[in-house]
Amino acid sequence: MSGESFQAEIVVSGDEITSGQILDTNSQWLSQRLEELGVRVLYHTSVGDEIDAIAGVVRQAVGRSDIVLVTGGLGPTPADVTREAIAQAVGRKLVLNEEALASIRQLFARRQRPMPPRNEKQAMIPEGARAVPNLNGTAPGIDLEVRRPDGKTCRLFALPGVPAEMREMWTHQVLGRLRQAGVGTRLILRRRLHAFGAGESQIVAMLPGVIKATDGPQVGITAHEGTITLRIAAEGPNLEACQAAMEPIVQQIRQKLGHLVFGEEDDGLEHAVVRLLRQRNQRLAVVEWGTEGLVNRLLAGVTEGAGFYLGGLVVADQAGLEHALGLNRNLLQQHGVKSIEAAEAMARRVRELFQTDWALAVPCFPQYDPQAEKPELAALALAHPGGAKSRTLPYAAQPAMLKVLFAKHALNFLRLELLGAGS
Ligand code: ATP
Repeated sequence: MSGESFQAEIVVSGDEITSGQILDTNSQWLSQRLEELGVRVLYHTSVGDEIDAIAGVVRQAVGRSDIVLVTGGLGPTPADVTREAIAQAVGRKLVLNEEALASIRQLFARRQRPMPPRNEKQAMIPEGARAVPNLNGTAPGIDLEVRRPDGKTCRLFALPGVPAEMREMWTHQVLGRLRQAGVGTRLILRRRLHAFGAGESQIVAMLPGVIKATDGPQVGITAHEGTITLRIAAEGPNLEACQAAMEPIVQQIRQKLGHLVFGEEDDGLEHAVVRLLRQRNQRLAVVEWGTEGLVNRLLAGVTEGAGFYLGGLVVADQAGLEHALGLNRNLLQQHGVKSIEAAEAMARRVRELFQTDWALAVPCFPQYDPQAEKPELAALALAHPGGAKSRTLPYAAQPAMLKVLFAKHALNFLRLELLGAGS
């Protein structure tokens, strides 16, 4: 291995993985650990229990990566062929490792069971390799350095497939050996910025040259239920260097996206709303129909909201609007429960009931019709000291998705008004 940045890959063997009987969680876990060390993982490969197939995959991995982690197939049964496959891939003989044999014997002695002769096979490791002790199982791991034709070296570790054994060996053996080899001396600092109110491609277009830039911090983008997340990773020899690299890119993104950015890390829109209410020392209540209480639930989950978000009401029928809110039946009949007029009346009334500065209303949603040429519009309304304000949004997706999306739109509507940035 050489240089400061290492590239790794993971190979998992086992018919139960390639046949879909179990999910490969080893690759996920190991990748997370490698990422923490600043090591980029470029490949995951799953391969069935066949010597030639495993050998082929290992040969390729050793030929292109600085670190190769192999899990599974180190057991004593004829189906466990990983050690043979590794030996074949690197062109070395399997030799008996006395230390490994002694530890397998000790394990059986501790368990007060005779050691079956087939377990001896587990003490065979490729010539020149070191064994990796396994405190929880019979299969020792393999630690092997391979010099490649390009002059670089690859460090390969083979560990058992059983997750608990593999993890213990990573933590107490492999990690230390990798650190000794200079891995993990660089740090990766991560930050997430969240935006709402524009689509993924729109945001990418607003950030030319930022996403997938060839040098400097790496910025990735993901979308989930309308929230766009920018994931920034800055690498450096220490925290200060990472922060120095991170800050300009965060500022650049914030400046280009403006009020689209509502928070960082674990923030939801509800946290942004509560922050603004606290800054302005103002209070909020919410009445919902279409979102079935989701907006209230999100706000109620923000601890810092106590004293600023006062609560709300959830209605599911016109009778609720009439009896609990005292809304005028004629108004509801004239405009309909899905109308802007109904939404504004709901907001005004809840504001009075809770005696708050702000009240947000999400009225009944339109019927979703996938065949409709033009989607119906859903209304949102806000009551505030200066009166009431409303907006409409096209109701054009599966209702299950729209509930979350509209809860977020409602919070975002309020957030922008609190910022003084509403249209
Ligand atoms: P042992 O000798 O301790 O059995 P082994 O190296 O032979 O170790 P395997 O036989 O390949 O391990 O796997 C043992 C069990 O570990 C599997 O049946 C499965 O439950 C679990 N396992 C194996 N590989 C993975 C993986 N990649 N992700 C999650 N679980 C796994």
